Amino acid sequence: MSYEAYLAISREGLLEKMAEQMSTKRLEHSLGVEAAAIQLAKRYGADEIKAGLAGLLHDYAKEVSDEDFLALIDKYQLDSDLKNWGNNIWHGVVGIYKIKEDLGLSDAEILHSIETHTVGSKEMSLLDKIIYVADYIEDGRDFPGVGEAREIAATSLDRAVAYETARTVAFLAQKAQPIYPQTIETYNAYISYLK
Ligand code: GDP
Ligand code: FE
Ligand code: FE
Repeated sequence: MSYEAYLAISREGLLEKMAEQMSTKRLEHSLGVEAAAIQLAKRYGADEIKAGLAGLLHDYAKEVSDEDFLALIDKYQLDSDLKNWGNNIWHGVVGIYKIKEDLGLSDAEILHSIETHTVGSKEMSLLDKIIYVADYIEDGRDFPGVGEAREIAATSLDRAVAYETARTVAFLAQKAQPIYPQTIETYNAYISYLK
């Protein structure tokens, strides 16, 4: 894959930069999501280069400190309610500002898919759905339900979004974790596909 149309550095240069700021495990996950996103792009007729790059970069900001995320929320005057959340929400929603700053990435479709990769949104583009689902089903994932998620993703992307969101909401509720309002919006917008 060549990401030259979107980035000033090569894929190899990007991988080196990523290796400096994340664990080997997270880098492997990122490569897994890149591969899964390219496969889904082939299956559903999306731009494979955009899907690959968005997949590779989706967790770019996962190891940014809470302090740095809070500073980015101030700097870009983002919704102050974001401060009540944490890394799980910030690494996508706020992470795109770190990606813009560090890499100069400006493609709005790629950035939007990274922004929403954890929480989804009520009207997801094809690329948004691909990244949301690829993150869940990449080859390195191993949790109850991942096999079914992979099977569903091979036949319907909307159904896969619904399945993943339902599992995530149930998982968070079972652990008495707060659910981000946009996650609930995604659930309500897609759950009918599971019927
Ligand atoms: P990862 O970055 O590859 O681990 O995957 P994600 O970005 O999809 O999710 C990161 C974490 O956020 C996971 O532990 C999810 O369970 C959690 N998460 C997803 N949606 C929500 C939400 O609405 N609220 C909270 N509190 N956590 C969430
Ligand atoms: Fe993530
Ligand atoms: Fe991820």
